[in-house]
Amino acid sequence: MPNNEKEISSFMKCLFAGSIEREMVFPHPQMDKEEAESLKLILESLRQFAADNIDAGEIDRNQEIPAEVIAGLAELGLLGMSIPETYGGYGFSATAYNRVFEEIAGIDASIATTFGGHQSIGLKALLLFGTEEQKKRFLPKLASGEWLAGFALTEPGAGSDAACIKTTAVKDEGSGDYILNGNKIWITNGGIAHYFTVFAKTMVGDAEKISAFAVTRDMEGFASGRKEEKLGIRGSSTTELTFDNVRIPAENLIGPLGKGFKVAMEVLNSGRLGLAAGCIGGIKRLTEMSVDYAKNRKQFNTPIAKFEMIEEKISDMIIDTYVLESMVYLTTALIDRGDIDYSVESAICKVYASEAVWRTASEAMQIAGGIGYSPEYPYERALRDARINLIFEGTNEVLRSFIALAGMQEHGEYLKEVGKALQSPLSQLGVLTDFAFSRIRRTVATERLEDVDAGLRQEVGKFEEYARELNIAVEKVLTKHKKDIINQGFILERLANMAIDLYAMAAVISRLDTALKEYGKEKVSRELQIGKAFCEIAWRRIRRNRRQVEHNSDPLHKSIAENAYESEGYDFDLIS
Ligand SMILES: Cc1cc2nc3c(=O)[nH]c(=O)nc-3n(C[C@H](O)[C@H](O)[C@H](O)COP(=O)(O)OP(=O)(O)OC[C@H]3O[C@@H](n4cnc5c(N)ncnc54)[C@H](O)[C@@H]3O)c2cc1C
Repeated sequence: MPNNEKEISSFMKCLFAGSIEREMVFPHPQMDKEEAESLKLILESLRQFAADNIDAGEIDRNQEIPAEVIAGLAELGLLGMSIPETYGGYGFSATAYNRVFEEIAGIDASIATTFGGHQSIGLKALLLFGTEEQKKRFLPKLASGEWLAGFALTEPGAGSDAACIKTTAVKDEGSGDYILNGNKIWITNGGIAHYFTVFAKTMVGDAEKISAFAVTRDMEGFASGRKEEKLGIRGSSTTELTFDNVRIPAENLIGPLGKGFKVAMEVLNSGRLGLAAGCIGGIKRLTEMSVDYAKNRKQFNTPIAKFEMIEEKISDMIIDTYVLESMVYLTTALIDRGDIDYSVESAICKVYASEAVWRTASEAMQIAGGIGYSPEYPYERALRDARINLIFEGTNEVLRSFIALAGMQEHGEYLKEVGKALQSPLSQLGVLTDFAFSRIRRTVATERLEDVDAGLRQEVGKFEEYARELNIAVEKVLTKHKKDIINQGFILERLANMAIDLYAMAAVISRLDTALKEYGKEKVSRELQIGKAFCEIAWRRIRRNRRQVEHNSDPLHKSIAENAYESEGYDFDLIS
């Protein structure tokens, strides 16, 4: 460990602090054999069910998922996969749950959104923070699919800045109930769920703090609005929710009073992994479609698959899938180990995955040429469906800030004060107090990534080199910008990009090393090609981001944007 006195239970937070915590990511995890067997059976039943019953094009056109489809998924037990068996679910690990989620998203993005709204975020607070009584009361109905769940945080004035919600839950001193007033927007499953985790402001002593509540549709004063028209995931239900003096019994408070923001953030940490796993499913499906089309479409008397510019696109899809599988299932295994802080890692997976599926959808459309643009083929739907992933469950801009700030939070004992202020970096921007940054000391990592197969020496060397560079860059920017680091978006973005590529490299090296040790070089040769190709791309990108932390044209870009704000857009004209 570096100079920190305290153990840091997060691979990436350690890496920002200059330490490579090998045992957190090596060996690459393998699923419990028994669970893997049941998972295989479930995936087979799901594929069969989808082949017989799900038409993604029709769901998009009708903007509706047929009730029989949801009922069928419930019958397969999929709506209670993450719920412990005692409450009627399968009690799947995070890894198995996300693997099924991946499969569902490969079948249809609207169903995946509904499914994720229900299980990844809707009922998650109950699983993480619910009392035994609450679990017994709500989970069996949610596991069986009798009820669907939703997660209600966003409001008209509170999107990325979720801490400034205005919905209130005021305690009625007579009955002890809470009276809920306010409204939420963009709520997935808003029109079809019966159970909602709702976040509202409550008084804790003299302070207004957020608390989480279990709210059900049958409560008087609850209403959901009309279904929103959307670009993609059109079959999913997205609505406004309004609460007009909704009386919530005190026993519906989830987690401690005033700790709702923490509840929301924990739920989203795990939800983001579901989203990332879903993107893997989407990319796999698009890759199959693209490979098939490229092999069969001929131009210039040649299958277009033979053109190198097409091969590059296919190769990128394969690399992204391999990298994402390596990262996402490494992170789900961290959850399954328990007691590990995976908040930065899950944000990294979400950002990489959402951008990869968007890239893939765009390139798949390009490979398909003109027909890609037609609604008669699935490419334009895939593109529309993919776009939301960069926006919900934390926009990628806000998550990049989070990755960099939360990563730096534990930079060293001497940064304790900045650490405190950055504990919830998204809600506490700007609350840093002045403190002695002169206390910053250099803690360049001396640790290495040891015991990795010799065939990966070059990749390991680059990983170690750029892990050190991340640590050096962090110290430089903290020394330079002090508490104003929070406002240095250009810098935060580069640090986050470095962190994303480093985590991806660590996951890929771990997966390759584990495979090499188990199967030997011959059997792993194709994986080695993929992993090595990625590491080459990644370290070059990290090197560019590192350089640009200090050598950049940021002031120019800032000034150009500020001038555009002043002149209300582009105010040049060639003909004037
Ligand atoms: C289809 C759909 C389903 C959804 N489902 C749910 C749901 O089930 N439950 C729920 O609670 N919410 C849900 N949402 C809401 C979603 O999470 C929010 O839309 C999202 O968090 C962004 O908030 P906003 O729309 O207010 O955008 P804003 O926060 O206003 O952001 C606008 C832009 O500003 C950028 N920005 C904001 N702050 C910063 C910053 N500090 N630094 C840099 N850039 C910044 C953003 O990245 C974005 O590009 C859903 C939204 C959609 C569209």
